Amino acid sequence: MVVIKHITEMQAWANQARAGAKRIGFVPTMGYLHEGHLSLVRVAKAQSDAVVASIFVNPLQFGPAEDLARYPRDFDRDRAMLVKEGVDVVFYPEAAEMYPTDFTTLVQVSKLTETLCGRSRPGHFQGVTTVVAKLFTAVKPHLAVFGSKDAQQALVIKRMARDLNFDIEIIIAPTIRESDGLALSSRNSFLKPLERQQAATLFRALRHAEELIALGERLPQKVINAISDMIVRETSGAIDYVALVDVNTLQDVKEIRGQILIALAVFFGKTRLIDNILVQAP
Ligand code: AMP
Repeated sequence: MVVIKHITEMQAWANQARAGAKRIGFVPTMGYLHEGHLSLVRVAKAQSDAVVASIFVNPLQFGPAEDLARYPRDFDRDRAMLVKEGVDVVFYPEAAEMYPTDFTTLVQVSKLTETLCGRSRPGHFQGVTTVVAKLFTAVKPHLAVFGSKDAQQALVIKRMARDLNFDIEIIIAPTIRESDGLALSSRNSFLKPLERQQAATLFRALRHAEELIALGERLPQKVINAISDMIVRETSGAIDYVALVDVNTLQDVKEIRGQILIALAVFFGKTRLIDNILVQAP
């Protein structure tokens, strides 16, 4: 496995792979890897001839009051995990390589970024789409894999790729969870033992909502209340949002029918956790 730190070098590698008719699969990450990231690597590997993973904690997608400085990092551990998965290249640029001082171009997907996490994290998705666009032109992949754990992000990137004609297949892979249901996340490492225990309630609340819908509940507010009540009752977490939205527009649904996304964000102290499930109303 090679570690590439410069964009021109990454592009040269990609050009050579493409000249050899190799299909390049790409998994962008912010590092501090876990089984969720590795599951994306395996999806990429199954559908390509060469896999590139990137590790870049993107300053552009963090708000001024957010956790950029304390975001967990361990490159040596990440590198060892990626070697084990048979990854061909780790693209590991410095912030100054990605954003020279006179950097002035931003990529903005509208509408889809104005709800859910976009409402509580202004500028976040602009940071995400800008960095992913830059990573795409550095790595030149044929396909890129994203996790449905970040459902809004995956949808926003799909839309960006379509709108800007990136000739890249965007694959969305399932959420990997701990045995108690908590979605794996690099940020779980910040949780205190009691918070970690309580955090399992997030997924249980989503499953409970799914059950209510299966039993015939059709009013979104009733389901939102049931989820919120459970989180308030069983955890010390502070709810950022709980929402039932259309899977294509991410707008709140007025009535539960067809396929909907149930999404939530909850703060445990300074640590913001998100989760979601897709539900098919009978
Ligand atoms: P991050 O390093 O948190 O930016 O995540 C990098 C990629 O891994 C994104 O596409 C995430 O959606 C995905 N990811 C994060 N957590 C999980 C998980 N528990 N299961 C599957 N994919 C995940």
